[in-house]
Amino acid sequence: MIEYFKRLYLDGEDKFLKIVEDNLAKEKKMFIVTANPETFSYGEKNEVINQMLLDREVTLVPDGIGIVKASQLLHFDVKERITGIDLATKLLDMCNKNKYKLCLMGAKEEVIKALIKVINEQYPNIILGSCDNGYIKDKDAYFEKIAKENPDVCLVALGVPNQEELIYKHLDKFKKGIFVGVGGSFDVLSGTKKRAPKIFQKLNIEWLYRITREPKRLKRFYESNVKFIFKIRKIKKRNVRK
Ligand code: UDP
Repeated sequence: MIEYFKRLYLDGEDKFLKIVEDNLAKEKKMFIVTANPETFSYGEKNEVINQMLLDREVTLVPDGIGIVKASQLLHFDVKERITGIDLATKLLDMCNKNKYKLCLMGAKEEVIKALIKVINEQYPNIILGSCDNGYIKDKDAYFEKIAKENPDVCLVALGVPNQEELIYKHLDKFKKGIFVGVGGSFDVLSGTKKRAPKIFQKLNIEWLYRITREPKRLKRFYESNVKFIFKIRKIKKRNVRK
């Protein structure tokens, strides 16, 4: 687990976005994993996710507040969260500014349709490649198809770890492109769901807002965040004793 923390990007969102923008301009391929406690926990159970988290070609950014707090407990100097939704929003801006090609997969059919409408209306310069919902049976075929389209950006919103696993499986087929698994971002970007108000975001309690809107998230939060922090405390104690 500690090896994953060592690979986290530390320097905050502004600097990170500059790197992304630069890579886009230089057509350098980049796979960004927006890590939360669930991602790291899957890494311990699933060998493919483990390899992905340790792969030097894969960039890890701290998405969940659980990851930021755990990093600080372990004395890694993580500055702030870099969230999937913020990255997705900024990538839409970059695509619009530079007439880049964008491909999308994920969320329900009505959500992806609403998102395409938002993009056509609010980001008129984006060249929209293939877009599909996240419930199609043959997701591999979607990647085979978009590899031929050579997109500049590909956003995949299936939830952790399916989105990451799928991108990682097909990454070799692409010569360029920024790839990100963005969780529930399409629901928000399409206007289907509301993001937590700014004050929740600022106080790092976006998770609390999401639980109040969707109480079934409470169990998931307990499993992935509360248990996670206890585990990190144990790791910390072990390391101190060594
Ligand atoms: N989803 C999907 N296909 C699936 C399962 C989930 O496209 O087989 C979508 C779901 O509709 C939602 C997103 O994946 O838009 C996951 O959102 P969630 O809020 O759970 O992710 P988080 O932001 O919490 O990581």
